[in-house]
Amino acid sequence: MSRTVKDYIRSIADFPHEGIVFRDVTTLFADARGFRMAIDQLLNPYAGERIDRVAGLEARGFILGGAVAHQLSTGFVPIRKKGKLPGAVISEAYQLEYGEAVMEIHDDALRAGERVLIVDDLLATGGTAEAGIKLCRRLGAEVIGCAFVIDLPELGGRKRLEEMGMPVHALCEFE
Ligand code: AMP
Repeated sequence: MSRTVKDYIRSIADFPHEGIVFRDVTTLFADARGFRMAIDQLLNPYAGERIDRVAGLEARGFILGGAVAHQLSTGFVPIRKKGKLPGAVISEAYQLEYGEAVMEIHDDALRAGERVLIVDDLLATGGTAEAGIKLCRRLGAEVIGCAFVIDLPELGGRKRLEEMGMPVHALCEFE
């Protein structure tokens, strides 16, 4: 039987902390067939839709989002962790299990009314993606969807984003 996207993802126990199973997409990215399949499948639901810009969430969302943007012939916009972008930024803080994180976007990265697709490797609690959506919306853009390779449904991210009116697309799930 031919391999699916999920088959290319490696699971590493107890990284970065004990009790976490890290879903490692480097093994997917490293495989020509797997990577191509993932990019094609990320784009499947959006065929025929107008997308003006792809926004990727640091860091693995840059690799996926860059390839998706290239495929769509759109520009790519990075949404980064605090302090990494060189120009003027706007920021969104969100809660982590322990403490707080902040995501940022350049304040001139998107134009009002632009239709944006947000891309990342994995949806867990949805906090990172929610911050990304808020940043895009604050610049006046319309986020038309969020596309992930992996959804961890037990952590509730999909529900959280759907409650914000955001369509979620994921290629596979892990428990
Ligand atoms: P969250 O904000 O909780 O949805 O977490 C999503 C972000 O954390 C993504 O950028 C993922 O790359 C990363 N992440 C969270 N949990 C895992 C995991 N089990 N394996 C790999 N990456 C993860």
